[in-house]
Amino acid sequence: KMELSKRAKQLKPSVTLAASAKAKELKAQGLDILSVTLGEPDFPTPENIQQAAIAAIQSGKASFYTPTAGIPELRQAVVSYIERYYGLTYSPKETLITDGAKFALYALFQVILDAQDEVLIPVPYWVSYADQVQLAEGVPVFVQGKEENQFKVTVEQLTACLTAKTKALVLNTPSNPTGMIYTKEELQSIGEWAVEHNILIIADDIYGRLVYGDATFTPIATISEAIRRQTMIINGVSKTYSMTGWRIGFAVGDQKIIEAMTNIASQATSNPTAVSQYAAVEALTGPQDSVEAMRKAFEERLNRLYPLVLEIPGVKCAKPQGAFYLFPNVKETMAICGYDDVTIFTDDLLKEAHVALVTGAGFGAPENIRISYASDWETLEQTVQRIKAFVEKKR
Ligand code: PLP
Repeated sequence: KMELSKRAKQLKPSVTLAASAKAKELKAQGLDILSVTLGEPDFPTPENIQQAAIAAIQSGKASFYTPTAGIPELRQAVVSYIERYYGLTYSPKETLITDGAKFALYALFQVILDAQDEVLIPVPYWVSYADQVQLAEGVPVFVQGKEENQFKVTVEQLTACLTAKTKALVLNTPSNPTGMIYTKEELQSIGEWAVEHNILIIADDIYGRLVYGDATFTPIATISEAIRRQTMIINGVSKTYSMTGWRIGFAVGDQKIIEAMTNIASQATSNPTAVSQYAAVEALTGPQDSVEAMRKAFEERLNRLYPLVLEIPGVKCAKPQGAFYLFPNVKETMAICGYDDVTIFTDDLLKEAHVALVTGAGFGAPENIRISYASDWETLEQTVQRIKAFVEKKR
């Protein structure tokens, strides 16, 4: 009777959360661990958002269940947000507020996939896509992006993976873990391809406001009306507003799909936390200057960190254009110090150099490591120094 289901046995914890938990455990034992594992801004949630939450609690309105799809103010705020940043008009009925973008994706896979339906997932990928597809009895089909093309996939590569069972394509730009951004032209060809083959585009735009240098983020839904109709937009407040702990995300797109996702949520969670929804209204509709201040801080860190990371012997890394990750190729670095398995390499970095980062293997990239620069500068600088010292010692 205590036997776990096949589903539970197959499921593994998120590698990023596991790496972070391991680092915290060692820290708690008193070890001086530097952790650059988590995709989580290190800034406090902006003051105006905190105040909105406090007011919602004190007024009493945050005490109760909300509609499953979200409070009307927040669905309207999402509509206005998409109008402002995408230039697209949706109705509130085409929006759903969720417990983080993560649950939006979970609910989406649950409602679009039948057993054995396939979802195209460009590699390297954010860790949860594949597991969520499997939880919905679907099949993740990995499309290998080439590192020399900044890991971005092409229509030719997608076509090679297309079958009669292909249902959807996940597109995450700016990308976690690579930080790369698809150009408008690239998105146009991928979008037209998806329309031609009737593939649903799942646009994970969660890093869309964290863009650096000359790069620009084009949401794929904005490219044409046909592509917009074929796209479900997934977004949220976690990364843009430093609100990871509040757990608010949203989905925007086809009303029938939104309603089905709402049914999943109504049976699984009832509603996203009320106080967080009121806070998110302020995030989306209030002053946006703190977003720009955080974006700038990330950009400065990237500009300082990138050249340092390139000093690690053997490292190869294109400069990211968005999000807050570096995803260096460490194949040569590993060869220099006698490793051929990146997970053992990162395990030893943790054990011996007390640096916690995430193995690329978890993202489908066995020659890479992920360094999150959503950490203070001192941590970042020392992290690189420790990795360098580790490599020098082993060489
Ligand atoms: N999508 C990507 C690419 C992410 O990196 C994350 C968080 O790490 C999420 C979605 C989920 O974000 P949240 O559930 O905090 O909204």
